[in-house]
Amino acid sequence: MTAYEPQPRRSFLPAFSHPHEQPWLVLDRDGTLVRECHYLCHPDQLELLPGVVPGLRMLAQYGVPLVVVTNQSAVGRGMLDHAQLGRIHARLDWLLQQHGVRLQGIYYCPHRPEDGCRCRKPAPGLLEEAARDLGLDPAQAVVVGDKPCDVELALGVGATGVLVRTGYGAQYEQQGYDKAQLVADDLHQVARWLLSHRLALPRAA
Ligand SMILES: [Mg+2]
Ligand SMILES: [Zn+2]
Repeated sequence: MTAYEPQPRRSFLPAFSHPHEQPWLVLDRDGTLVRECHYLCHPDQLELLPGVVPGLRMLAQYGVPLVVVTNQSAVGRGMLDHAQLGRIHARLDWLLQQHGVRLQGIYYCPHRPEDGCRCRKPAPGLLEEAARDLGLDPAQAVVVGDKPCDVELALGVGATGVLVRTGYGAQYEQQGYDKAQLVADDLHQVARWLLSHRLALPRAA
């Protein structure tokens, strides 16, 4: 079996004529798109969270590029290899495509926190790589996740950070974490907020 190679796709129709005005989504995987399960290591464990399909469909209809950026230290810890992770991501991609949602790419950091890489969130490496691959502006990204590292990824590149209450998000909110520009119940709520606040009002040049 061949490993899944996430190929950046440019098939979306940009809603904005200028790439520096095009909002795009940087989605965390565990606890945001799929149910958090400690070191997910088999494709059968993938379970899309409520709100994900309606939210992403809405955004896809508006031509908003969708990218996944995920920390997968299970690889660096030897619990999972790149091929296994590739199968998990191929299935995630397939599950979303069944609902008419196409991801432009899935980017992952395989390293452990102590490796000091430039790609483990909140480091900006993967977001910047996706921006280069797709011709998008890092500052126009809306990063959605259930942990402070997701919000801090956004803050580090001047983007928008959204905390979702799925996964660990509700716990961080209760603990008083308040760095996110928006806290939302799920991706459906994020999509509705984005469509009313960002997509309806393109930024002036
Ligand atoms: Mg997460
Ligand atoms: Zn890394």
